Amino acid sequence: MLYVNVILPLPLQPTFTYTVPTALQATVARGQRVIVPFGSGRPKFYTGIIDSVSPIAPQGITWEVKDIVDLPDTDAVVRHPQIRLWQWMADYYLCSVGEVMNAALPAGLKIESETTVEVNPDWDAGATTLTEREAHILQTLDSKGKLKLAELGKATGRASGMTQVISRMVAKGAVIVSENLRSRIHARRVVCVRPAIKRGDDHALQQAYQAVHAAPRQEKALMTLIQLSGFTQVGHPLKQVTRTQLIERSGVTTQTVQALVQKGLAETYTVQASLFGFTGIVTGDLPKLSEAQNEALSAIHHSFSDHAVTLLHGVTSSGKTEIYIHLIDHILNTTSQQVLYLVPEIALTTQLTQRIQRVFGDKVLVYHSRFSDSQRVELWQRLLHSTEPLVVIGARSAVFLPFAKLGLVIVDEEHESSYKQHDPAPRYNARDAAIVLAGMHGARTLLGSATPSVETYHKATTGKFGLVTLSQRFGGDGVQLPEIRIVDLAQARRQNRMAAGGVFAADTLAMARRTLEGGGQTIFFHNRRGYAPMAECRLCGYTPRCQHCDVSLTWHRSARQLVCHYCGATYQMPTVCPQCQEPSMQLVGFGTERVEDGVTELFPGRRVLRMDLDSTRSVKGYAEIIDSFSRHEADILVGTQMVTKGLDFGDVRMVAVLSADTLINMPDFRAAERAFNMLEQVSGRAGRRAAAKAAKAAKAAESADGAVVAVQTRQPDHPVIGFLKNHDYLGFFRHEIAERQQYVYPPFARIIYIYLRHRDEESVRNIATHYAEQLRALLGNRVYGPDEPWVSRVRNQYIRRIMLKIEPTASVARVRDVLRQAYIALMQDPTARGTTLYYDVDPV
Ligand code: ADP
Ligand code: ZN
Repeated sequence: MLYVNVILPLPLQPTFTYTVPTALQATVARGQRVIVPFGSGRPKFYTGIIDSVSPIAPQGITWEVKDIVDLPDTDAVVRHPQIRLWQWMADYYLCSVGEVMNAALPAGLKIESETTVEVNPDWDAGATTLTEREAHILQTLDSKGKLKLAELGKATGRASGMTQVISRMVAKGAVIVSENLRSRIHARRVVCVRPAIKRGDDHALQQAYQAVHAAPRQEKALMTLIQLSGFTQVGHPLKQVTRTQLIERSGVTTQTVQALVQKGLAETYTVQASLFGFTGIVTGDLPKLSEAQNEALSAIHHSFSDHAVTLLHGVTSSGKTEIYIHLIDHILNTTSQQVLYLVPEIALTTQLTQRIQRVFGDKVLVYHSRFSDSQRVELWQRLLHSTEPLVVIGARSAVFLPFAKLGLVIVDEEHESSYKQHDPAPRYNARDAAIVLAGMHGARTLLGSATPSVETYHKATTGKFGLVTLSQRFGGDGVQLPEIRIVDLAQARRQNRMAAGGVFAADTLAMARRTLEGGGQTIFFHNRRGYAPMAECRLCGYTPRCQHCDVSLTWHRSARQLVCHYCGATYQMPTVCPQCQEPSMQLVGFGTERVEDGVTELFPGRRVLRMDLDSTRSVKGYAEIIDSFSRHEADILVGTQMVTKGLDFGDVRMVAVLSADTLINMPDFRAAERAFNMLEQVSGRAGRRAAAKAAKAAKAAESADGAVVAVQTRQPDHPVIGFLKNHDYLGFFRHEIAERQQYVYPPFARIIYIYLRHRDEESVRNIATHYAEQLRALLGNRVYGPDEPWVSRVRNQYIRRIMLKIEPTASVARVRDVLRQAYIALMQDPTARGTTLYYDVDPV
């Protein structure tokens, strides 16, 4: 008998045991996908991953073990160290391996009843034979198009065993599942169009327009093509235009494009569809490093000889990216290993990827959570089947990819809170997972930041991590860190020196005006989106709140609605106050929409862009705003924290922080750290190049001297503001680490939040109190609470939170055991029914 332990996408026990029928015994192996029945009665079928294979039955089995149903692939879809990483994650972040697997595998590798099936257009019918049932399914799909697994069961009159049949048909290449690539990737080619007209020759262009003059649709198509390809910007290479883009933008058909080709005005060509869309020129040149950068580079190499993890603490715009490029080059070309380069989701811009692609060309793969499923499976398969040296640039989920042999992991902006996944499980921090992953490969990890997290810097100064410091900006003396000017809001109010309803102080505006007049760009940073944070009744103080979430609503002027930023529910603005029935509702506070309005009015004739969650819903929206601003097509950028993340704009000479207080006053132990990081990072967007051009053009002090940051605050004496003023990271760190020690917060304790949710407020209150007592019996004064979190109701679920502070040296396994024991006891209590419980380990 042969047994397999299978990981299933369920929040239950680690693995489930099955037997392997004789026919499949020869091919079964660890890491393979497997289809198994689950549950008694009429079982459901799941796709799982084989964790281990054994000829001996696991101990303690008292029930009848079922057979696996099928193995859809001939090879493993995960590599060996990956499952170990899943295991570590499940143990550390207190969830099931199945939940980790679910996050790790792209949907295209998981077949569930929700999966959509369609006929594979590339199927070679002669190559394989189908069973009667398979042929019937194929016919059905042929006539009906895409169907979900369940629908297909209905349509063919037989639902049982559908998962297996479809898996087999996928393996035969007859159908494709969801956006499963297997059969598709290699065939995907994209048709592109380019003008066939001599560039830089006005006469030729005129003749071309002449030739389509009588055919308005062709004229439209040609104009659009000229525009999209950047044809008239003669110094620049033509941009790639796909036929689909051209057709969509100009509203014509394929025939129209064909007509242009026949007239000799355009030509089509095909390219291998690429995930990465890099159309620039691969120079292969490594940037030449400055002396300071060179020193840092050799210090890193040196540090790696006795530290697996090293922190590169380099001020903003010190040229950390260039150092990374040299390190990557070393791994790709000297040791022939692979590199994982993690960046915060939002920093995954064309700016960064193109800088890397220019050097390493098609050795660069990009992994983005907003890519389609098939793109992700494509990248997964590419890594799975190759051992070639590659560099993967990706956001947090890139830690799950099947690397063959990592030599280096880079975590840029390691302090970023977006490395932490909040929901659903696994609630992991990709920075920490990346360090563990690197360890499993015997690879080195480089963490980079201008404002390292307190935990990381503590490790670097106590010898656990190596530390390399880069304290100069790149570009010599002309490029200094910007000067910070504190604008006291209380004083400005008293002196009546505020504009636009209290958004801008007169001093801030004066600085902005001088900067703009000197030819520089300005960023207005405010960490609230929407028009006004709150609506309020002038008379009775009533504020409209979300019916499901217990938070106040934000007015979005463009949508003319009140929006809940937790669940997205929208509401009409009441015309009279629902509480006192007077027409006295007004808007208080301000968000980015209102800032945009303000600057548009105060700086007439200046082009303004806004960057926040609402203006960047698509990848394209985000990239377009950044590209446009870095080409200086706008003078002013208004934005939320999105503008703080690793962007490199040459002409920004001023940054205005409109309210430092909203950052400083957040109610949790990381508020000061987050505020300092964000303020220092956003300041770091200013003055990244010497202001040679601007200085010549203007006598204005700001543009000639250097860049400025105006920080509006009501607390000019707050320690965070003091350290910010001097760009004094070290001072800030010393101050903060003392507080953490005094109040026993990370790195002096490991925090675990236990969240309990229930539809009924009374119930959750009782259960949480009871549970905290139980935990206290086991863990003593390590248990705090329960309390109501800041948002205590979301989507109609009431929430309570218990906090554990665990000694950093305590064993993870021990804590896990204690918590599991307590959980089992809790679930035996019938009043606890309907409670959901989950953990957040190392919350940020
Ligand atoms: P950081 O990531 O430290 O904020 P960047 O790597 O973005 O800094 O570098 C800041 C700017 O300086 C960028 O525009 C970058 O192109 C430029 N730069 C840095 N180092 C070099 C170098 N060695 N050669 C040319 N340009 C450089
Ligand atoms: Zn809500």
